[in-house]
Amino acid sequence: MKVTDHIEQAKGKTLFSFELIPPQKGRSIKELYDNIDPLMEFKPPFIDVTTSREEYIYIDRDGLLDKKLTRMRPGTVGICASIKHKYEVDTIPHVLCGGFTKEETEYLLVDCHYLGIQNVMALRGDAMKEEKYFTPTKGGHAYANELVQQITNMNKGQFLHEVIETDNKSDFCIGVAGYPEKHMEAPSMDSDIRRLKEKVAAGADYVVTQMFFDNKKYFDFVTRAKKAGITVPIIPGIKPIAIKRHLQLLPQVFKLDIPDELVKAVESCKNNKEVRQVGIEFAIQQSKELMEFGAPVLHYYSMGKSDNIKKIAAAIF
Ligand code: FAD
Repeated sequence: MKVTDHIEQAKGKTLFSFELIPPQKGRSIKELYDNIDPLMEFKPPFIDVTTSREEYIYIDRDGLLDKKLTRMRPGTVGICASIKHKYEVDTIPHVLCGGFTKEETEYLLVDCHYLGIQNVMALRGDAMKEEKYFTPTKGGHAYANELVQQITNMNKGQFLHEVIETDNKSDFCIGVAGYPEKHMEAPSMDSDIRRLKEKVAAGADYVVTQMFFDNKKYFDFVTRAKKAGITVPIIPGIKPIAIKRHLQLLPQVFKLDIPDELVKAVESCKNNKEVRQVGIEFAIQQSKELMEFGAPVLHYYSMGKSDNIKKIAAAIF
């Protein structure tokens, strides 16, 4: 079922969902199941699975370094199919511009359609580790709105190089990213909202936000988006702080603010076990407020470990 149908069916009740990262190449999918199992009692209508950018590795061949391109966490679509069938839950693969030609994207979408996957999250993708800025892949898209347009076209039977008259068209529900604290490359919040509107105009059906710790930023973002004519659901993304180092890492990577109250609470912790507890308590408060505001779904970034998400969900749902 589509994310938008889940939201409509819930009739104003806030839903629970979460995001998973594929295991590293060579590891077992069982690790993922072990993290999903404890969360299924909260009945997530859908689960997201991220896609990671490819990266360069250097292989020592008799003293000469051979530079090879590899993907350390492949398998997004396979994992989505596997979780979908094991748990009978909708799964959402993240589809990236970066690292994929338009043709490869088309084939990936065809696979998703065959597998009965009805939702996809369309993203530009991050810059590769070695790059400072995102560089479009040769033959790929430069911005997420172009990717959204490709998916929308495919939903109409318009493939990249042919139009196919068929009664078996895909009908993907398309999610896109939104940034309550502005995307780091956007020159202003208003321009970022205009770009978001372009994604919706291209066919995006809902928005999931980057993590934030100050709910006011989300409330303002929703107000601005509505004022700009964006009427699709805007789902808040929530990340419980789990280690002390997050205080530096998260602002560095995502260019976001952490409220001083939370900073002080984390700084006063003696170890990461205490930090994890602070993160859980903060996320519970944040979730309660977002629920009162009427957020359609609370979407948690699990980063591969679900014990903290379970405690938050148990307090909220
Ligand atoms: P875009 O919407 O293309 O925007 C990127 C920047 O370009 C913005 O600053 C925007 O204002 C600007 N812009 C947009 N269109 C134009 C245009 N036509 N001309 C000029 N400027 C323009 N990354 C991953 O690698 N894998 C994942 O699985 C993943 N999942 C994510 C899930 C969520 C919910 C979120 C919020 C982010 C996720 N990301 C993921 C990170 C995301 O890929 C990065 O934030 C990326 O830098 C931007 O992606 P986007 O889709 O928002 O890009």
